[in-house]
Amino acid sequence: FNVPVAVNEPVKGYAPGSKERAELLATYKTMFHSNIDVPMHINGKEIRTGNTKNITPPHDHQHVVGQYHTADKSHINEAIETALAARQAWSSVSWMERASIFLKAAELLAGPYRAKMNAATMIAQSKNVHQAEIDAACEMIDFFRFNVQYMTDIFKDQPASAPGIWNRVEYRPLEGFVYAISPFNFTSIAANLPASAALMGNVVVWKPSDHQAYSAQVIVDLFKEAGLPDGVINVVYGDPVMITDTCLSSPDFSGLHFTGSTYVFKELWKQIGTNIHTYKTYPRIVGETGGKDFIWAHNSANPLQVATAITRGAFEYQGQKCSAASRAYIPASIWADVRTHLEKQTSELKMGSPEDPSNFINAVIHEGSFDKIAKYIDAAKADNDADVIIGGNYDKSKGYFIEPTVILAKSPTFSTMTTELFGPVMTIYVYEDEAWEASLKLVDESTEYALTGAIFSTDRYIVEKASKALENAAGNFYINDKPTGAVVGQQPFGGARASGTNDKAGSAQNLLRWTSVRLIKETF
Ligand code: GLU
Repeated sequence: FNVPVAVNEPVKGYAPGSKERAELLATYKTMFHSNIDVPMHINGKEIRTGNTKNITPPHDHQHVVGQYHTADKSHINEAIETALAARQAWSSVSWMERASIFLKAAELLAGPYRAKMNAATMIAQSKNVHQAEIDAACEMIDFFRFNVQYMTDIFKDQPASAPGIWNRVEYRPLEGFVYAISPFNFTSIAANLPASAALMGNVVVWKPSDHQAYSAQVIVDLFKEAGLPDGVINVVYGDPVMITDTCLSSPDFSGLHFTGSTYVFKELWKQIGTNIHTYKTYPRIVGETGGKDFIWAHNSANPLQVATAITRGAFEYQGQKCSAASRAYIPASIWADVRTHLEKQTSELKMGSPEDPSNFINAVIHEGSFDKIAKYIDAAKADNDADVIIGGNYDKSKGYFIEPTVILAKSPTFSTMTTELFGPVMTIYVYEDEAWEASLKLVDESTEYALTGAIFSTDRYIVEKASKALENAAGNFYINDKPTGAVVGQQPFGGARASGTNDKAGSAQNLLRWTSVRLIKETF
């Protein structure tokens, strides 16, 4: 079990005038005008159905970057059959070969693939340079490196033996195929959903988000160059209902690796329940879903620290992280200070295309999302129970741009305090200082979610009380820090309640879901 000790990939700064910045922006330019044609990938073959959809940058929606091809039912059946045919060879390959492929992918991404992966993420998912770098480069590299190490940690876990008896366990892949459905908002998560299952010896049918097709293609190229055999990860696009129905009605469906909305995940779970008698094995179901992530401050908190956590936690990547802070509870006595810092910080956030790295805010992912967020902002403007105190403007003429917006709610149950918007909108409720314990109850009980949350206080007694009161309110709980930006190997990520099965991405716990253990007892 001698594998390289995993270390986090250092985040590059892309400083003005640096070589890495010049290379990235040149790659962006070339890829922006590439007219890319993204095929599906079944058994290592590129499948072009001619049934295409356009790839358009959210920040420049009239510009067509290229197309991707979509499936009909026969392609999905072929992807499943191909995966199952590849299973025999892949599951009997030594774990060292599997590890080598993903370690090589990590090094290729740290080197020659880095600019491409980042640029594709900037273009089609509208991430700024820094947000692309921490996701598409560093987090993806970290997933590969750390998962290899976690895999061998798992293998070391063996039962005791006795004189004349050798007990051992063999970590087998699941018997069937894993269906991976990945989101648009993290290129690293998109790669990790199929890759973590494949690392453990499984074969996969992967449906990336349509909005992530460009970077998904770079991931496919990366895996191929790293030596991943044909048929192990098969990539399909198209009608999600048809693809899901086809995958979930196969008797060989053996696992779902999902990141996306709570509603969809629950529907999938229901469908799997309905089909349960048709499956050969009980399918593993792993999901990371919605959030309505909180920031709670006590009057002992540092107002600047709270404001910075709101600015970064709520507005990085336009608030389109499952982990993004979108509701805050601030005590009256520090509110004026927090507000002053917040007004200053948000006024410094530039908005525009990621092609200009000084733009902190880029576009939200698509028109549907833009319209939904705008509707909630308008409702807040019109409602006596709320004031839009920062931002609140939006414009979709060129791209889906929404200003970082702060709503002050008079009621802790105001709609934007409890509804997940997945956009750059923070709602703040100011509570009376002495009611801090009651406000913790509000944090805990106002939503069905429990993904991330952050508390701010310099008083250890309060920190302890708040941690206890919120013990089930967040799978990732931050003390005096923003609730986003989990680093693989340091903060394994996942939530509970309606936010997911909490099988922490980037952990041995997650990898264990993709293995079915055979215990072997041998007597001499
Ligand atoms: N792991 C990411 C973070 O800590 C969020 C992942 C997600 O949005 O699904 O910010």
